[in-house]
Amino acid sequence: MTLIVRTVKDLRQHVRAWKAKGETVGVVPTMGALHEGHLSLARRARSECDRVITTIFVNPKQFNNADDLKKYPRTEEADAALLATVPVDLIFAPLPEEVYPEGFMTTVSVGGVSEPLEGRMRPGHFDGVATVVSKLFGMTMADYGYFGQKDWQQLQVVLRLVSDLNIPITIVGCETIREADGLAMSSRNVRLTEAGRTRAPVLFSAITTAADDIRAGQSDRMAIREAAEKIRAAGFERVEYIELRDAETLMPSDDPRRPRRMLAAAWLDGVRLIDNIPV
Ligand code: AMP
Repeated sequence: MTLIVRTVKDLRQHVRAWKAKGETVGVVPTMGALHEGHLSLARRARSECDRVITTIFVNPKQFNNADDLKKYPRTEEADAALLATVPVDLIFAPLPEEVYPEGFMTTVSVGGVSEPLEGRMRPGHFDGVATVVSKLFGMTMADYGYFGQKDWQQLQVVLRLVSDLNIPITIVGCETIREADGLAMSSRNVRLTEAGRTRAPVLFSAITTAADDIRAGQSDRMAIREAAEKIRAAGFERVEYIELRDAETLMPSDDPRRPRRMLAAAWLDGVRLIDNIPV
């Protein structure tokens, strides 16, 4: 079984010993309830680093909805078993009081890229992400950090944060892992009903068609409107946004010479699903 460490002191002891031998360290931050998407990040880290740490921490500061935090799946034993198949060297799974001890007072807030889309729909979310990711980088002293493109905006926020604060870590963005029917893997998918699960892939197929249509010359607005209609027709309660944005700044973009990304968020069965693809 993989070593599970709960305190920063113990974690640092392991990392210092590795670094003394000149070994490189990769970190894969997660909130647990692991699936193939997380494991693909851990495997990538395994192939590129001498040592791999996976962190499991359901970060209360990045939940803007108390109910979502309460319902977030927690499956540490199963997670550890999955990580042993990679394998990773160490699991860092601290308690909230280890991460946010009494008197904790600092918030890391990234401007610009964290403001639209997820930032607008989930106030405070990216402050929570930026704060915990900064802490995890400081705690693990990792040389490489692995993040999924599934959370595209988060990846851009982390890249900006590391660049702006000169944090000595290289960020690696990894491809979105999907179910056979196209649904992006997510820890929240288990909360879908059986009927919802069969409809959920429409989010991906609708934005894929819209991206194809835009590349073929259809207007952005028309393609996006059609995608939203398909998603609603499939039984989603609500389409929060479908936007075509500059892939790096997340600002509105009608410049096809710059890399662009289509990003979407929609509710199905009371579960909030997100996805994104290149355009
Ligand atoms: P989470 O546990 O949801 O906070 O995710 C931890 C990391 O796994 C983040 O960097 C996510 O972007 C990444 N991740 C989650 N789902 C997927 C997926 N389907 N494919 C690739 N990476 C993913």
